[in-house]
Amino acid sequence: MRNVFIFNPGPAVLPEPVLESTSKAAINFANTGMSIMEVSHRSKEFDALINETISLLKDIMGIPENYKVLFLQGGASLQFAMVPMNLLGAGKTADYIDTGSWSSNAIKEAKKIGQVNVAASSKDQDYTRIPSPDEIKLTPGAAYCHITSNNTIYGSQWQSFPDTKDVPLIADMSSDILSRVIDVSKFGLIYAGAQKNMGPSGVTVVIIRDDLAELAPDNTPTMLKYSTHVSKNSMHNTCPVLPIFVVHEVLKWIIDQGGVAAIEKLNEKKAALIYDILDSSDFYRGTVQKDSRSKMNIPFRLPSEDLEKEFLSAASAKGLVGLKGHRSVGGIRASMYNALPMEGAQRLADFMTAFAKEKS
Ligand SMILES: *Cc1c(COP(=O)(O)O)cnc(C)c1O
Repeated sequence: MRNVFIFNPGPAVLPEPVLESTSKAAINFANTGMSIMEVSHRSKEFDALINETISLLKDIMGIPENYKVLFLQGGASLQFAMVPMNLLGAGKTADYIDTGSWSSNAIKEAKKIGQVNVAASSKDQDYTRIPSPDEIKLTPGAAYCHITSNNTIYGSQWQSFPDTKDVPLIADMSSDILSRVIDVSKFGLIYAGAQKNMGPSGVTVVIIRDDLAELAPDNTPTMLKYSTHVSKNSMHNTCPVLPIFVVHEVLKWIIDQGGVAAIEKLNEKKAALIYDILDSSDFYRGTVQKDSRSKMNIPFRLPSEDLEKEFLSAASAKGLVGLKGHRSVGGIRASMYNALPMEGAQRLADFMTAFAKEKS
């Protein structure tokens, strides 16, 4: 048992059994006598592992038959470019909903490729909320509509997804994939950097509907075409072998926990512990509107920046680490991904109550 609870926004906490099995595989993977860092990505042992990782993810998320699972590099940030390079055909418009820094980075990249319509934005309210359905102005016949399902920095989260009808809905789920049950068939493409909720940095999971994988213009560089990675089962070039192994272990751990539905319930309880304190306190102030609150990343402020500094160092002395807000917004942010145990949330809640009592 370790002596810290990790609230890092990403790379983030991983389940302890995953760290243990990974440390074993770092020495000897699948009885090959080789480390997972030494085996060939073309070996039969690794081929079995990648295929099992895909089928575990399909089972856990209920991914329909007509979707492919890809393991790519370049982070979620490369998907900001790959999505429009593949899907935003000439003469078409892509709708983007701007709910925070990551959405606006995605918008910036898409504008380099083609025509973008910002269909709704909460920027003028400092990204403290998710736009309501009647604020969203979709383009008829758009190439796709892009959202960020959970806003890691601002701490807001889509509670239900916009209905884009025939227009493919594309979601950056980097910070809430596998944290709640979703209907994958409602999406054309989902992507997520693994390092928040499903593994280490170095691999990005893309879930893509078959028809969307074939749309890239011919002059798209090979590595940036989804079809390249679909046709080679993510092994056109050397894939991130070690990160994929860790994702595999995380998926097995999720099954051991009872699947995403069970984890979702736990995530709700963990978040409620902290939100209850924010709502009943004059000392702490949540920064996101109630109807848009994230269950993964909970930002809040204290009465002064000096108290925030004190809070962070006192928390860290108690083994509660990684609570500093993003540099662009300041304050405190408790990131409570799947692998943060209930006890971690409880310890943070107890610490918050005691700290407020002592300082007010
Ligand atoms: C962290 C994060 C990113 C950036 O991910 P990289 O893998 O570092 O490129 C993008 N979107 C969201 C929602 C994130 O939380």
